[in-house]
Amino acid sequence: MASSNSTDHSLFISDIHLCEQRPDISQAFVDFCAHQATQASHLYILGDLCDAWLGDDDNCAIAELLQQQLLMLAEKNVKVSIMVGNRDFLMGHEFSKACNCKLLPDPSVIELYDQSALLMHGDSMCTADKEYMDFREMIRDPKMQQTLLNKPLSERRAIATMLREKSRSANATKAEDIMDVTASEVTRAFEQHGVDILIHGHTHRPAVHQLPSTDEKKLKRYVLGDWDSKGWYLKAQQGQIALHSFEF
Ligand code: MN
Repeated sequence: MASSNSTDHSLFISDIHLCEQRPDISQAFVDFCAHQATQASHLYILGDLCDAWLGDDDNCAIAELLQQQLLMLAEKNVKVSIMVGNRDFLMGHEFSKACNCKLLPDPSVIELYDQSALLMHGDSMCTADKEYMDFREMIRDPKMQQTLLNKPLSERRAIATMLREKSRSANATKAEDIMDVTASEVTRAFEQHGVDILIHGHTHRPAVHQLPSTDEKKLKRYVLGDWDSKGWYLKAQQGQIALHSFEF
């Protein structure tokens, strides 16, 4: 008899924050690829897969581990789509090509079985954090990205460390709610793209939100969790979407 795992399904993850300082997270990711992802038709990674990404030319241990895992999935005919986040925004086509993955623009609308779903990293909806939004605009500028990529790796590494420190000290003094999505931005995203489903990460507030809607439609916002003390993923199949967590 076919197990439920063999039903055609897609998985969504985000905010894994792979880094050399957390071998436990790397191991959890490797296990997830081997056991869960190989069973899926499609794996969507919605940003911040890595805690930092200095450029596709950086052959660090994390990049090697990732390439190995993603190529393994490609060999097993699992489609992999990657959207970058605010940590790994320099991940590019060179890497995705080397891993047989597709880079997804943020936002993207996909056909998810019987429905359309809007996929985002999530940071673009956190508009109450003005300081962050200015920073986002700067780092998403292709010219700025090229300027960064033209710098030697050692210099990029120093910049990444500096940015992480800056973000840590800034976030420590920010009110909790300004680091979450702005409600009106969520409504705007649903309206602009005409979808009933939104899936995103970034806020580290895993949840399934049902939104009030003016008509009969039921709008659902699925927020993926970050991998820190637990792992999180969303499993979607015909007529069913569920958020899961697991210990590692
Ligand atoms: Mn993020």
